[in-house]
Formats: sequence, C-alpha cells, structure tokens
Amino acid sequence: MVKETKLYDLLGVSPDASDTQIKKAYRKAALKYHPDKNPSEEAAEKFKEITSAYEVLSDETKRTQYDEYGTEGPGMGGMGGMDPNDIFSQFFGGGMFGGGAGGRPQGPKRGKDVKHSLEVSLEDLYKGKTTKLALNKTILCKSCDGRGGKEGAVKQCTGCGGNGVKFVTRQMGPVIQRFQTECDACHGEGSIINPKDRCTTCRGKKTVSEKKILVVHIDPGMKDGETVTFRGEGDQAPDTITGDVIIIIHEKEHPDFTRKGNDLFKKQKIDLLTAIAGGEIAFPHISGAWIKTEILPGEVISHGVVKVIPDQGMPIRRVGGHGNLFVTFEVEFPKNGFASEDKLKLLEQVLPARPKVKIPAGKEIDEVQLEEFDQSKHASGRRGAADEDEYYEESGPGVQCASQ
Ligand SMILES: [Zn+2]
Ligand SMILES: [Zn+2]
Repeated sequence: MVKETKLYDLLGVSPDASDTQIKKAYRKAALKYHPDKNPSEEAAEKFKEITSAYEVLSDETKRTQYDEYGTEGPGMGGMGGMDPNDIFSQFFGGGMFGGGAGGRPQGPKRGKDVKHSLEVSLEDLYKGKTTKLALNKTILCKSCDGRGGKEGAVKQCTGCGGNGVKFVTRQMGPVIQRFQTECDACHGEGSIINPKDRCTTCRGKKTVSEKKILVVHIDPGMKDGETVTFRGEGDQAPDTITGDVIIIIHEKEHPDFTRKGNDLFKKQKIDLLTAIAGGEIAFPHISGAWIKTEILPGEVISHGVVKVIPDQGMPIRRVGGHGNLFVTFEVEFPKNGFASEDKLKLLEQVLPARPKVKIPAGKEIDEVQLEEFDQSKHASGRRGAADEDEYYEESGPGVQCASQ
C-alpha cells in the first residue's frame, strides 16, 4: 500500500509498475514534452515534473521511501534538485536505445528537418493563396507501435549491448588501431527481433511510408526564401524527436514585373507622340486589375526615365499597405522613312532647333559614312569574345597546377 500516487500518476503508471514499465512511460512522456519537441512553457514545466518523478521512481531506495512516506517524507528533499536535462541525457545516453554510441551522454536524436521548395508566382505572392502539397513521409509503424515486432519480442542486441556499434582493435604492424564499426549482429539497430515475431506490416523496419497532404498558406506579400514550418511533420524514426517540414517559398520569375522587397519594377513602352504630346497608357498589373494613367500634353517622357506609382507595389506583410511601383519608360521611335519631307519640315517648326555642331578650331576633320550594324560582317565584337574563351581555357587548368 503506497501513501500517495502523485509521481506514478505523472508518468501514467500504476504503483505496482515494474522498472521497465516506468522506464518506458518516462521515455514516452519525455520525448513528448522535451523542450526541443514542444517549446511551450507548460510542456517545459511538465518535462521537469515527469523527470523529477522518474528520478525518484527509478531509484530503488528513493522509490521505497516515497511509497512509504510520499513526497513529504525523508529523502525527498533532494527531489527535483537535479537538472532534468542531466537525467534526460543519462537516460537516453545510457545506450538503452542505441543513442549512446561512444558512451558520451546525449539526448535523443532529433530527426532531420525535411525541406521542400515551393514555386510561387508573383501573382500568388501578391494575392495570397492556399496550396495543398502531397508529401511522402516516413511514420512509425502503427501495427507494432514502431517496435518492429510483437511486444516483448524485441531484444536488446547482445553483440553491442544495444549501442548498434562495436569497438574493434586491429593491429597493423606496430600500429594498434581502435575504431568504431557498425554492429554486424543487429546491423546498427541495437536490437534484434526473432523473425517469426517480426511485424508483418513494416516487416520489422519499424517505419512505413505514408502520403501526407500539407496545406500551405501563402500570405500576401511573402518573399522569396521565406519559410512555412510544419512542426514535427518530418520523417519519424524510433526514439527520435521528429524534425519539421520546412517549405521554402521560391518566387517564380515574372515576364513583366520584377520585385525588390516590397517594390515592383516594370518597363513600359511608350510611343514617341504620346511621350511628347501626351495621351493615355495602360498595362495589366499583377493584382489582375489594369493600371491606366494619362501623360499630360507638354510633359515629355524621355527614354529611360523612371516614374513612381505610389502604393502599387507588393502588399507589406504584418504592417499593411503596399510598396511602390517603379515604371521605366522605353520610348519607341517611328521607323525609318515614317514621314515625308513636308511633314519633317513641320517637325522642324515645332521641335526645339538643332544644336550647332561644335568642333574646336584647328582640328583635322574626318568625314565618314554611317553603316547598318551587321554581326556577321562586323565581327570585331565576336573576335573579342572568342579571345576571352581561349583565355579561360588556357588559364583554367594552369591555375590548378600552380596551386598544387
Ligand atoms: Zn548489435
Ligand atoms: Zn510494424
């Protein structure tokens, strides 16, 4: 008859539980509430409590005293005095679960984070979107609870003491080498299952593959490289804190718009007449709407000039509002011979007069003809490029030789 059951209740076992049952219960609870796995404050508190409970119940003397006198009894003063992480490390570093290779204390392994990149169009980053992502994930086999076989059928490997690794000493001439090698009896598993007791679902592998659908919320204004994390949705493995699935947003290139932070940039063609005499321009925005604006007569838009359209950039996350849209104008000139001589005379009347050519006095003057540029005929540019290639081919391996 025990005085109280509080510590047993914390681990979820009955007061007549065996040492193995207590160990098992602690292992399960500790993996659940460990701060690496569960960052909430309640979990941290719970982790401390269950670890204190385990500290007492795993020690025969302390457990006897507790059963007799409860937490108020003698010998309970030191309860909780140890750092829960130390107990945790000792527990998991003790080689019981194959985690203590090399004998150094360590917590349970944390599984790798699984990273996926998700291509998102600029339109979807502007408006926001919910995307479903189907992933294949490794989970602990539900038929055998990740044991690989019937309860009790999984035996600790005697070849390696459950570590999964063995130290081997080998003499080569005068040199004695000591090195660590995977245990061949259990293939590094640390445990052995009798083939007839092996789980038929996972065939003793402890894990199975499962299709999982993740719903990814793309918030308006998210940026290239931002991540969406699904905690604990990574691949499961026995005695391992499951890692996260991390979705990395990758912004797809847009044919018309480029983005820097919250601002958008685009090039906009404009005809010469509108650029000089004014008129309307319009273009589709990534929001789906059309942007329309008027160039005022007399306001000249030069080639390459940049204008700002406020608040037509990307939505700004958490802050609200939008960045700006920068438009770089490209003036399209009329084709050769677009106007007759009479009309060009009219242009002379309206456009600012031609500036006079100024050449300093006494300079020799070469009068030349302009020709159309023809890549095949005017090969000087190409020859330059070829020289560069040759340069790299010759210097490439040479540089490597020099550095060896
Ligand atoms: Zn082994
Ligand atoms: Zn199984």
